[in-house]
Amino acid sequence: MLGWGRRCRRLKERRSPSELEALWKEDDMAGGEKVRAMVMIMRTSGCCWVRSGGCTMCGYREASLRDVSEEDLRKQLAQALSKYKGEPFVKIYTSGSFLDDNEVPPAVRAEIYSAFSGCARLLFESRPEFITEDSAGEIPGNATVALGLESSDPEVLAAAVHKGFTPDDIRRAGLLLKSRGIGVRTYLLLKTPFMTESMAIRDAVSSAMFADAFSDEISVNPLNVQHGTYVERLWKRGEFRPPWIWTLIEVFRQLSGSVHARLMSSPSGGGSQRGVHNCGSCDRAALDAVERFSFTQDPSDLEVSCQCIAKWKAYMESEDLLGSPADLDRSFENELTLRVL
Ligand code: SF4
Ligand SMILES: [Zn+2]
Repeated sequence: MLGWGRRCRRLKERRSPSELEALWKEDDMAGGEKVRAMVMIMRTSGCCWVRSGGCTMCGYREASLRDVSEEDLRKQLAQALSKYKGEPFVKIYTSGSFLDDNEVPPAVRAEIYSAFSGCARLLFESRPEFITEDSAGEIPGNATVALGLESSDPEVLAAAVHKGFTPDDIRRAGLLLKSRGIGVRTYLLLKTPFMTESMAIRDAVSSAMFADAFSDEISVNPLNVQHGTYVERLWKRGEFRPPWIWTLIEVFRQLSGSVHARLMSSPSGGGSQRGVHNCGSCDRAALDAVERFSFTQDPSDLEVSCQCIAKWKAYMESEDLLGSPADLDRSFENELTLRVL
């Protein structure tokens, strides 16, 4: 029998490099209005940083393929265009950096810019090292570049995320884009490894203040545990618990009215053990509140209640007292199991 890793690699080799990884439609904001957005995930050779070990929470290496030619990328574009129904917002994700010439060659990028020149908003992601005077000069005026700042604390970025750049690199890239009239969406990672819930709140709030100087939008992304990552190893050992949804809501409460950028979050895996979650019974209502707030920016939309708020507060106090970010629920469960045994 094949091991899981090898089986994954076999499945991966079978995927066609000329087909999109995924495409779907969803709501988002463009020009201050809620509009339909087309999201396309392109298969590329993947993020250059993966060759240096990648980020501790990133499982994107599974979405990339070794050999993807320019012709393959053109076929993926054609596939997307066949599904495009004039949505005002188009988001292109590559599991890496859209502005990395090795992932998306300049000629293909120019074709993509041209294909979606009529839409109000075009969004793609890039690491800051690919945002230069030259590459910024080619980015069209309808574009928004998403920057993965994660945290404005250089030590967190280096030691807990292993990001391979500094917050100042992101600030430089963001200010350059803004000076060219290009939109910036900045991603923050809520609760990096080794953080307690209260540390995560403080880190996200100060990171958003830092990002506000160069961001039109700040997307707070609660860490979700992806397969094959360092974070997954910590999580399996009970040394990491994804953040509570109350933690995310608290970040928005503290930031509401204090930043100019639009605050938003659309958590991956929300409500599951691997994603941001509460007690289980209030998760849907709390996530709906986060979604409403992301569109309205009205803090009254964050008002949700559940008995587990008291548990969340006690959880934070215990973490602070113990000085440990370990998953306390699971630690106590293990302790009880051991005692029963
Ligand atoms: S999080 Fe972004 S920069 Fe880090 S390895 Fe993944 S794709 Fe690359
Ligand atoms: Zn609850």
